Amino acid sequence: MADSYRHTKIIATLGPATDSKEMLSKLIQEGVDILRLNMAHASHKWVEDAMWHIREASTEVDRHVAVMMDVKGPEIRTGEVESPIELAVGDVIEFFTKRGKPSGDVPAVTVNYTGLPGEVKAGDVVLVDSGLIQLKVIDSESAKIRFEVLTAGSLGSRRHINLPGIQVDLPALTEKDENDLRAGVSAGIDFVALSFVREAEDVGTLRKFLDELGSKARIIAKIEDQAGVRNMKAIVCEADGIMVARGDLGVEIDYHKLPLVQSELIQACQAEGKPVIVATHMLESMISSPMPTRAEVSDVSHAVREQADAVMLSGETTTGAYPLESVQVFKNIIESIEPSVNRPLNETIVLKTPKAKMLRSAALLSRDLGESGIIVFTRSGFLPYVLGALRPFGVPIFAFTDEEPLFRQLMLPWGVEPFLIEFADDPEVTIQTSMKVLAEKGWTKNGQWLVVITNALASDQIIDTLQLRQVEV
Ligand code: PEP
Repeated sequence: MADSYRHTKIIATLGPATDSKEMLSKLIQEGVDILRLNMAHASHKWVEDAMWHIREASTEVDRHVAVMMDVKGPEIRTGEVESPIELAVGDVIEFFTKRGKPSGDVPAVTVNYTGLPGEVKAGDVVLVDSGLIQLKVIDSESAKIRFEVLTAGSLGSRRHINLPGIQVDLPALTEKDENDLRAGVSAGIDFVALSFVREAEDVGTLRKFLDELGSKARIIAKIEDQAGVRNMKAIVCEADGIMVARGDLGVEIDYHKLPLVQSELIQACQAEGKPVIVATHMLESMISSPMPTRAEVSDVSHAVREQADAVMLSGETTTGAYPLESVQVFKNIIESIEPSVNRPLNETIVLKTPKAKMLRSAALLSRDLGESGIIVFTRSGFLPYVLGALRPFGVPIFAFTDEEPLFRQLMLPWGVEPFLIEFADDPEVTIQTSMKVLAEKGWTKNGQWLVVITNALASDQIIDTLQLRQVEV
């Protein structure tokens, strides 16, 4: 078996600390499976350059990665201020939209969402700057809102606003998102992460837009507010995967309920056979420290034990001083914890077709054989995605495809190790090719038994088969 096999995938966000070709090569070699481009802070030129560098670095180090474009979504922000406004508890501050003017008797700042005054009422609490400043609505007119300051703070320019529990009528995709997506699709992104998904229709809107662009990028719905949590089941069904976006989610819901929501989201995804990513603040202290805190080690190991498909780095790899060390820490934790998780196969997933049901038998058989693995051939990704969702601990899922975009999209699901090969007309030739590739890359050894899920020709009919093959090298 190849060194350092792990089921849980690693996602790293690119930024100034990592976007050079040299650093990309190191990150990819270190074990990153997916690179995330956060469009909150990126230009189209940067996307184009980053994609170029990623593909070049991948080829050079002979290890492939997928690219996920994270579009910003409809963000509510305060406007520019000449100098930070110092707010003390009990002070009054005003937000006004472009349709209104400040009253002039208290400090005031613009807000970019004209619908906001109509959507809040006296008593509502609004959070600014990741919840650092808490404001309570005193009253709201058509184009301005007055607040009483509940938590003191310094209000700088363009601060992010969270509205916990308040229903907003914002579009799923902004004009900026659409422009970013055009740039991303032409650069060849593999996944799109959509921010602030509140209902399944938001995913449908993005899917329609991607279809119009001719893109097959898979959609990851970021759950980051109460509406997203409320509608998680429908969103999980509609999306190709979920991100537990704990940064905003921890502000939008009671922070102490975050672990419960994380578990609920992971379980909802496992029941539907969809991948789930646990994101944000996983190794936050490593932005400036070479070692994680003990609590961070526990948090990452908790995500591994809960069987998330992937764990994600943000600030640690965008601007952090220890991006490579952060990836190494993820790898060390995953490799230490995974062998200790010895759970039965995922029983919550509903396998609807006979072929899907065969996957459970394949996973059980491979587990029983010990030191085995499953070979599967795919053009849609369905079989390896479901095999991963069955969570066969200790069983690598070797997914072979002849479709390059799908090859990279197979980097996300738990336990799946993708390979790009040519498919022959004769299934036997394709099986032999796949076994040769595995042996050459050090994944298999002489005498080992593999479970193969493949088509076979029987009296001119194509049938689905589950086969046992022994490695001969
Ligand atoms: C988050 O809020 O946790 C997240 C991943 O989103 P962003 O990095 O876009 O804030």
